[in-house]
Amino acid sequence: MKILVATGNRHKFAEISAIFAVPHVQLCGLHEFENAPVVEENGLTFESNAILKASVLARFTGGWALADDSGLEVEHLGGEPGVWSARYAGLPCNDSANNVKLLSRMNGVEDRKAQFRCVIALSDPAGASRTVSGACPGRLLTAPRGAHGFGYDPLFVPDGHDQTFAELDIGVKNRISHRAMALQAALSAWGQVLADDPATWADSGRDHF
Ligand code: IMP
Repeated sequence: MKILVATGNRHKFAEISAIFAVPHVQLCGLHEFENAPVVEENGLTFESNAILKASVLARFTGGWALADDSGLEVEHLGGEPGVWSARYAGLPCNDSANNVKLLSRMNGVEDRKAQFRCVIALSDPAGASRTVSGACPGRLLTAPRGAHGFGYDPLFVPDGHDQTFAELDIGVKNRISHRAMALQAALSAWGQVLADDPATWADSGRDHF
């Protein structure tokens, strides 16, 4: 059974593939589907955007789809950039410009508490979706450090660590990140159903969750 991972972000795809391992389930990427629609993420919450992406792509392909919507919430900024994380400095999305904007908004601010949040939605072929979420608390640096990862990774030091997500080994990030927490919740909530013989749930999956 294939599940489409509804993201064009290769870093997210790699992280999701490394964490979400279920027997019988093969994750595939958007590149396998020509003319896949580009979903405008106009929801006001991670939940609504994740459901939108998963359900639109599931209906388009006629199969199951999994989507991640995630972002950084900074306490001093009242949760900004939040759902606007990817487009914080405007369009087109640019990670470096986003980091520069965030650092300038946090210039001179002592309270540097922040958390990454991730919502994972799984949609059946008819578009019916369910979600799980995860978070990773930490703090922001005053200058970027490290070369791995994407987005705000170079500015974010997770609690219990001294290195940023862009400095830590990807294996460490994949154990503690918001995405890891959400995907572990997904495995607990849905893993058993997905691991069952797909023939028993593929056509009536909604009833099994
Ligand atoms: P989305 O594709 O709309 O979910 O936007 C996610 C945005 O949140 C990314 O473009 C990054 O700016 C940020 N983000 C989410 N997860 C991570 C992460 O693991 N590391 C760094 N930035 C992240």
